[in-house]
Amino acid sequence: MFDDQRSKKVILVLHCLLNQNARIDGCAYFPGAMRESARAVVDSGVGILQMPCAELHCLGLDRSGRMRDGTDIGIREALLEGEGLKACRDLVRQVMDDVREYQKHGFRIIGVVGNDGSPACGVDTTHYVDGERAGAGAFMEILREELTRRGLDIPFVALRDHEWAERTARIRALLESAAEN
Ligand code: SF4
Repeated sequence: MFDDQRSKKVILVLHCLLNQNARIDGCAYFPGAMRESARAVVDSGVGILQMPCAELHCLGLDRSGRMRDGTDIGIREALLEGEGLKACRDLVRQVMDDVREYQKHGFRIIGVVGNDGSPACGVDTTHYVDGERAGAGAFMEILREELTRRGLDIPFVALRDHEWAERTARIRALLESAAEN
């Protein structure tokens, strides 16, 4: 079954790897896709599952962590409480539905690509209301919890604005190791 040209390998990537239009105002570094990083993934032959942008979906394009009463609780924090948390969990559930379906048919999920420093997509560092420090972004935190809950050990790697060349090398290493196995 599915014995055709497909690689049966899929990588989960943050939305803005392919679409910088989703970025918060002032934070798009490319006109469209993050060119070199996206090219590395495309050229590898793995399938690309573009995850939803949690910030765009939950807080809109012109977003902030400002609540209706004017208090700024921070974007990460806004995604981890009330409506934001519910919406984030729904998005993760949709991703997990696809992951489960691929796995049911023997496809491999080779990794997850996030973006350090992002309130939603940070892997090793994220942005809290008072600045950046160690920790995962809201979406990645919930996604990792779900993967762990289902016993799936899938590697996470992170791009990082301003360091995309060095970070792309990390993605290449992940892709190469998936190609060997
Ligand atoms: S929330 Fe994630 S996908 Fe959306 S713009 Fe920020 S880093 Fe990109």
